[in-house]
Amino acid sequence: MKKIVIAIDGFSSNGKSTMAKSLAKEIGYIYIDSGAMYRAITLYCIKQGLFNDGKLNEKGLQDRINDIKVEFQINKSSGTPDTYLNGENVESQIRNMEVSSKVSAVSAIPFVRHAMVALQQEMGEKKGIVMDGRDIGTVVFPDAELKIFVTAEAEIRAQRRFDELRSKGDTKTTFEEVLENLKSRDHMDQTRAESPLVKADDAILLDNSYMTIDEQMQWLVEKFKQITTN
Ligand code: C5P
Repeated sequence: MKKIVIAIDGFSSNGKSTMAKSLAKEIGYIYIDSGAMYRAITLYCIKQGLFNDGKLNEKGLQDRINDIKVEFQINKSSGTPDTYLNGENVESQIRNMEVSSKVSAVSAIPFVRHAMVALQQEMGEKKGIVMDGRDIGTVVFPDAELKIFVTAEAEIRAQRRFDELRSKGDTKTTFEEVLENLKSRDHMDQTRAESPLVKADDAILLDNSYMTIDEQMQWLVEKFKQITTN
């Protein structure tokens, strides 16, 4: 069966990573979470003290960008890729609220995007990949054979993210903070000058507000089969 590239884009916290991960497992493809790469760069900036009073020292980051190594390695117990920043497993650190609140400022910087996009394109060279993000179907893989654009109502997305944070032991962050964070990330992601979040003309729209994970999977696998068996 021919191997293809599957691009899954959409708004923050709409479950696209869960979908992309499950789909990759089901069809034996490699899963890449492109958002994790921007989060890892953001964590690096925080650790290096490049944020002062909430403002990023862009020049400082530019001087160091070639020293930052972001990689993925399969976690043997979960079977899914963990994110590594200069050799350190940062998978859980990159999901915290501090990173979430700063990542859209970092991901809007053109030199950061150029470096990440080049890395992502290299990862997809041999196809057989499911990548999720904001610009995968528009910029990273404009020729992807299957493009999905996922959306869901903001309150529903915030509730899902809030439940996830609670299940991971975060008892401090409130629902309102989560909702505010995702609305502001959506806004920044859609309005930035460099490759803003936008649905590719040839992407299929999926509103998963009222769908179970099983229903989404069935829908996705169906789309995958239609393309690979034709
Ligand atoms: O997917 P996730 O919510 O983890 O992504 C975190 C942030 O990284 C997004 O809010 C967005 O600013 C940025 N991002 C991006 N382009 C991608 C993936 C993520 O700009 N392809």
